[in-house]
Amino acid sequence: MTHSQNDRAPAVSEDDDGLRRFATVWARVVYQATQTSMTRHEFEEFLHPLATRLNDALHAQPFSALPGYDVGETLVAGHCTSPEALPQILGVLDSYLVLYGGGPGDLDIDEARSRCARLQHTVAAGFSRSLRERTRSEQESLSRAALAAQTAVEEALHASETRFRTVFKDATIGISIADMDGRIRDANGALARMFGRSEDEMRRRNVNELVHPDDAPEVWRLHRELVRGERDHYRVEKPYHRPDGTVLWTNLTVSLLRDAEGEPRYQLSLMEDITERRLLHLRLRYEATHDELTGLPNRTLFAERLERVLGSSEEERRFGLCYLDIDGFKAVNDSLGHAVGDQLLVSVAERLQSCTPGPDHLVARIGGDEFVVLISDPSGREEVTELARQALAALATPISVDGRELSVRASIGIVEGRAGDLDPAEVLRSADITMYRAKDSGGNRYEFADPDSDARAIDRHSLTNHLPAALERDEFFLEYQPLIRMSDGRVDGAEALVRWEHPVHGRLGPDRFIPLAEHTGLIVPLGRWVLEQAVAQACGWRERSGAGDQPLRVNVNLSPRQLHHPDLVPDTIAVLESAGVPPSSLCLEVTESALIGADEDELKPLRQLAELGVEIALDDFGTGYSNLANLRRLPATTLKLDRSFTQGLQRHPADPVDVTFVEGIVSLAHALGLAVTVEGVETEHQAERLRELGCDTAQGWFYARPVAADDFVRGWTASA
Ligand code: C2E
Ligand code: CA
Ligand code: CA
Repeated sequence: MTHSQNDRAPAVSEDDDGLRRFATVWARVVYQATQTSMTRHEFEEFLHPLATRLNDALHAQPFSALPGYDVGETLVAGHCTSPEALPQILGVLDSYLVLYGGGPGDLDIDEARSRCARLQHTVAAGFSRSLRERTRSEQESLSRAALAAQTAVEEALHASETRFRTVFKDATIGISIADMDGRIRDANGALARMFGRSEDEMRRRNVNELVHPDDAPEVWRLHRELVRGERDHYRVEKPYHRPDGTVLWTNLTVSLLRDAEGEPRYQLSLMEDITERRLLHLRLRYEATHDELTGLPNRTLFAERLERVLGSSEEERRFGLCYLDIDGFKAVNDSLGHAVGDQLLVSVAERLQSCTPGPDHLVARIGGDEFVVLISDPSGREEVTELARQALAALATPISVDGRELSVRASIGIVEGRAGDLDPAEVLRSADITMYRAKDSGGNRYEFADPDSDARAIDRHSLTNHLPAALERDEFFLEYQPLIRMSDGRVDGAEALVRWEHPVHGRLGPDRFIPLAEHTGLIVPLGRWVLEQAVAQACGWRERSGAGDQPLRVNVNLSPRQLHHPDLVPDTIAVLESAGVPPSSLCLEVTESALIGADEDELKPLRQLAELGVEIALDDFGTGYSNLANLRRLPATTLKLDRSFTQGLQRHPADPVDVTFVEGIVSLAHALGLAVTVEGVETEHQAERLRELGCDTAQGWFYARPVAADDFVRGWTASA
């Protein structure tokens, strides 16, 4: 899918307006859920820099979700700590961040959404972590208060009954005093309220009746030690049953009170109700580790589990990972809408879960349409393969969404091995590379990771990563290969061919990096650079040529992505004008396959350039699905016949099929008013035959290899 101009990032000031609006919406939604003393307006001012940080992170290259942690922490520091706050915060980010942050900008919309999702996870993680720390420090001050209370109680116990009662009654934490048999002698109002009983009822109970089945044995060990007088206090987090069946979670401190002789007399319990906080923690933890749409564990939880599985210290323990990506999911989303896409993902999640019953399997959704199944200790390759096979089969049964039957195909990359051999990042990278390999070989299949393919992919990856810097560092240069007019053997022009002088790998040909540049979009600036260089060169040649000479033309290759770039026409005109070169001195070479299926709108830029006088050549002609009838409506002026068709003419006698073919093309082209250039002319014999067959221009090693601009001029003046 191509995005219209409207999707592009607006100027910076508009961006900031957008972020202000975002902060306003954010404040409106979240303000109620805060315990802040800020006014709404102040709160908005507080959120604005956070919005900016998130937006910067969203668009940063390379992307990192880390700033989300800080934002989450800052929100807690800003008292956004009520239980509703986090889901609301995440909801706002989800709905508005991409929108008000100036749209996806240079990012693909799916990429923008997936980045936004990852930022939400880090915000949630930062938020919960910070809240946890805060709670811990609250607990510490509370236990200090409790200790103080204890001292007061002890003093009171030894001093006067009235003072004792006052401390007891007014405390906001629950306090009880029991004898050494556990019979509760006294309990304050706060404690009774926690348990939903009256103070009298509390007084009739025994602490031992309040045991909860979830109590760790550890708690009872500590308690026995206290009762035996072997320890003076202990602190635990402990659940209790309330009469209504609900569970009360407490932070419990129990201290031993001794009499004047030092004999254990009473046990003093100080209890803080942490039920709400605990629930919030559980919820935060759940939200931070699960995918909202499918309910599956998310990337965070998967990463934790993967680390644990790989970190296992047991010798010979194995792991298996299936990394699954739905084939053509984007097309479903684009054509049937996000709602259908979402339903499809939910069904995929269900199907995957249905083929992974055991606790040894973890199914997680780790990105838009990316799922993983992690197997903790598979018996071997077979088990993992079987799982991949089952997953593909489970998805193949049509899924009914919105009255449509959709059949899901997916590509799976499998990594299986010994737990200690790879770290999590290596496993994920390898799985990802392997998944792409499955996709490249047609999809709807699984492949196994293997180190050689990994290495090749990493190589490509590193070249891709270095492309932008290479352009800035001027590591590209052009060579020129002459185009020879067959009628008189004179140089007519030259094709500019780009090369990369790589600091490590040495000189790289365009086949190594043009496809990567095309894939990442760097081809657009790189292509513009080539055009500028080549046109400047053509201008230099004009200045050197004599008065009567026909000026040399320069041929520049255009890749499909450039062809569809909105700036193609204005950029080309600007380059020609600033060099002062007439349009007819430039020929743009476009492959035939790039034009297949192009409608009139898509051909318009080329047509405009042709109307200005720029020559257009159809490159590699004959290798695509040549539809000769189509030729008529293309704005081309020249056909460049692919090397594969002229090879047969190198032989002696020439291959009759190739002769007939070339003859046919030449006469058709001429009938349509197109010139014919032949590529890959390597022998004199071949050159002669092609001239006889009526080809207009030739290019190939027989005449010259591609050379640096200066060598080109030397050769040309020598031949002239
Ligand atoms: P192409 O447009 O078909 O360029 C002709 C290729 O054939 C060049 O390979 C050239 O060196 C090679 N060649 C020329 N004469 C002979 C011959 O007699 N025998 C043989 N065997 N080969 C010959 P090169 O330089 O490796 O370029 C490969 C491709 O890379 C080009 O194919 C073109 O598609 C692309 N390319 C090169 N420069 C650019 C550029 O600036 N932009 C874009 N988009 N693509 C470029
Ligand atoms: Ca070419
Ligand atoms: Ca070609």
